[in-house]
Amino acid sequence: MTEKETRAFKAKRCSETIGDFTPCKTKKQSVFSKFEQLPINRQGWQNYDVAIGLRDMTLKSKKAVAYHEAGHGVAACLAHKLFRIVSILPDGESMGKCVTVEWKNFHPDYETNRRTKYRIKADIFMLLAGPCAEYKYFGGRKPTYSVEDFQDARELASYLCGSQEEADAYVEFMWEQTKNIIGLDWNWKAIEAIANALLGQKTLKYLKTRHLIQKASGKVTPSIDLL
Ligand SMILES: [Zn+2]
Repeated sequence: MTEKETRAFKAKRCSETIGDFTPCKTKKQSVFSKFEQLPINRQGWQNYDVAIGLRDMTLKSKKAVAYHEAGHGVAACLAHKLFRIVSILPDGESMGKCVTVEWKNFHPDYETNRRTKYRIKADIFMLLAGPCAEYKYFGGRKPTYSVEDFQDARELASYLCGSQEEADAYVEFMWEQTKNIIGLDWNWKAIEAIANALLGQKTLKYLKTRHLIQKASGKVTPSIDLL
């Protein structure tokens, strides 16, 4: 290959790569710069997420989405947060979803009571449990579908913290705590059961999900004390 041909080849490969990843640039960027330097780099996950969305999903990708959404669903049940459905049916915006019911009278911007703090922490736990389940299922691989979960977690953490640095550190702490909680044998059995049910049925309602969690974990009232 001549030098001219090599240059043309590199230019072509570059434009193909950029072509796959361009849509992610329109997505909201993190305001927490410190997180971009962590080993778990969500910029990369974002690119991968969009790229996968443009092609047929492999079984591995489907499992990643199923474990991710199962993590959200099980964490919601553990934290007493209601949701309407958990689903792995892709739509125009996402590869799957867990549609939660907002807390009533939740005002984190001006209320600092114990109940509000619990709810913020519960929401952060639920947000991180999705990527965390994906991370555990794939033996520590970077989660694929996680950018918005982390952005939302950091925004929520800012209500509990006095600075950006503290909020970043808080989310890092919660990530470690969430890993430990979902790694507990009974919680992981519940996540596996929900992920498998999602791979078969695609969408589960709250009561069905809760029933499956009770059955898999052997706990009548699945819960976690986050305070
Ligand atoms: Zn998620």
